[in-house]
Amino acid sequence: MHRDQPPLGIVSAMPGIAWPALPGGPGAAILAILFQLQQTQWWPADRIMQAQRRQLAALLDHARAEVPFYAGRLPAGLPDPADAEAWEATWRTIPVLTRDEIQAADAGETLLAHQLPPGHGEYREVFTSGSTGRPVRAVRSQVWELVWSAFTVRDHLWHRRDLTGTMAVIRESGHGKAAYPDGDAQQGWGFSSAGLFESGRLVSLNVTTPADRQAEWLARQDPDYLLSHPSILMRLAAETHAAGLRLPRLRQVIAIAETLRPAMREAIEAAWGVPVIDIYSTREAGYLALQCPDHPQHFHIQSEGVRVDVEHPDGRPCAPGETGRVLVTPLHNLAMPLIRYDIGDAAEVGPPCPCGRGLPVITRILGRRQNMLRLPGGGRRWPLLSSGDLGALVAAVPVLRQYRIVQTAVDALRLEIAAARALSEAEAIAAADWARAKFGAGFAVTVQGLDELPRSAAGKAEDFVCEVPDTP
Ligand SMILES: [Zn+2]
Repeated sequence: MHRDQPPLGIVSAMPGIAWPALPGGPGAAILAILFQLQQTQWWPADRIMQAQRRQLAALLDHARAEVPFYAGRLPAGLPDPADAEAWEATWRTIPVLTRDEIQAADAGETLLAHQLPPGHGEYREVFTSGSTGRPVRAVRSQVWELVWSAFTVRDHLWHRRDLTGTMAVIRESGHGKAAYPDGDAQQGWGFSSAGLFESGRLVSLNVTTPADRQAEWLARQDPDYLLSHPSILMRLAAETHAAGLRLPRLRQVIAIAETLRPAMREAIEAAWGVPVIDIYSTREAGYLALQCPDHPQHFHIQSEGVRVDVEHPDGRPCAPGETGRVLVTPLHNLAMPLIRYDIGDAAEVGPPCPCGRGLPVITRILGRRQNMLRLPGGGRRWPLLSSGDLGALVAAVPVLRQYRIVQTAVDALRLEIAAARALSEAEAIAAADWARAKFGAGFAVTVQGLDELPRSAAGKAEDFVCEVPDTP
C-alpha cells in the first residue's frame, strides 16, 4: 500500500459494529483474497509460479473427474509443483484449446462440469467473441466472480483511485439501456465494491450513443474517472476538444477491451492531461494483465488468477523480447475449465519489472483491433456486440461457426457466416433480421454463407471490417 493511497472505507454489515468494519459474506471473501494479493505480488517469481502450480493441479483433478471434454486429454498426473522443469514440460504436453473446439464441445455441453465442489455457487453464462468473430459461450461459477471482483479492486488500489469519486463508463450496456441524454446512474462502483467499500457514483452511457452526445453527456457528469474503449476515448478526446468542453475533475482514464496503441495513449493523455491506465482482460477468462503502477509500459500477468503462457507456434515458451500466441488458463473457474485456451491474441514477453513485483511481465498486446461502423446519416459508431447480441445471433443461426460483418457502403452491410452446412432460407432471413435490429433499419443487409472466412493482412480474424473510405 502506497503512502499516498486514498483512504479506503470498508462498510460494516454487522449490526452494532461500526469500526473496525465487519463485511458480509461475499465482501469478506473478496477481502480475504485481496489481503493475500497484497502479499503475493511481492513474492519472487518462482514462488508465485510454484503456488500457481498447486492450484492448477486442483483444477486439472477436477477437470479430469467432472468435465467430459477433458477425459483422456490431460496427463494422468502432474509432477511435484516444486520440480519446475519436469512440471512445465508436462504442462506443455496438454493440447492447445481452440475456439472451434469450444464451439463443438458446447453443442453437447461437454466442457461443463457435471457438478461444482460445495461453495462454488451457481453456473453463470456469458457470450464473447473477442475480436475474432467466433462467438463462444463461457460459463463461470460464482466463486470465479468473487475472484474477478478482487482483481477489479486490485486495479483500483494499484492506480490509487479514490473510490468516493465519480466513475463514468461508456461501453455496451444492452439494447436501449443507459440511453442518452440521461444514461444510467447508481450509488457505488458496482458488484466488486458495492456493499464492501464506501464508493461514489457510477454513471454509464450506452456505447452506441453518437460521439458528440457522448462528449456532452460526459461534461455534464464531470467525472473523476472515465472507463471506455480506446477507439471511443480517441473520438471523445477529439470531440471534447472541438466543442471546447472541459472535464475539470478528471484524474484518470481507464482503457478496456481493445488494444491501446502507443499513439492512442499519447493522443488521449495530451487531450485531457491525465494518465491512461490500460487493462488487459477478456469476458471468458477475466483479468489477464494489469498495467504496473510504477512502469506504465509493463503489464503484470495476474498470476494469482490466471495462468498465461506466451508460446511460439511450436510450443516453446517465449523469452523476453519475443512475441507469441497467448494461451490462458483461468485458475478458479471450475464450471467450464479452459485449459491452455488460445484467445486469439499475441503478446510480447517483457523482462522482470524493476518495481519488485514477481508477477511476470508482458510489454505489448497485439491483434485486438476493430473498425468503427459508418452511419448512413453521418458519424460513426462502435460496432461491438454484447453477450446478448451474440446469443441472439447464435439463436438465429444455430449452425454458425464464425461470422464477419463487412460494411460495403455507408448504407450496406454484408453478414458473412461460416457454418457446418449451407444456411437454410429461414436462417438467412433470421440473420439479416438480426443485423438490421442490431445496426439499424437504414442498412441494406445481405447474408453470405461461406466455408471459411478470410483473414486480415496481419493474419488476424476480424469480426467487423469497414470498407467505406474515409471522407474528410
Ligand atoms: Zn512492475
